[in-house]
Amino acid sequence: MNTITSITGRTWQELAWQENALCAQTGPEFFFPAPGSSTREAKQLCGACEGRRECLEYALDNDERFGVWGGLSEKERERLRRSGAATTAAISAATA
Ligand code: SF4
Repeated sequence: MNTITSITGRTWQELAWQENALCAQTGPEFFFPAPGSSTREAKQLCGACEGRRECLEYALDNDERFGVWGGLSEKERERLRRSGAATTAAISAATA
């Protein structure tokens, strides 16, 4: 049986977290703030989002450079990536 995948190569089941994404219920200005603007509101929403872990994994896997994903800003994701700590344990710690 063939599995249908998205353009990213992930199955639709792997992307199911997007259906309940809390950010989809707000404006993009929270998650893609102007440089120097606060990410606090976005991070608060991420903290309550069921798909936070999957969202962060997706952002790291796809090298998302802008905005808040999985509760981490681009700088925080870059720090995680550069530390070589983008492991399951580090992702668990970041989304705990
Ligand atoms: S964790 Fe944050 S950015 Fe990711 S889907 Fe949830 S609300 Fe959106």
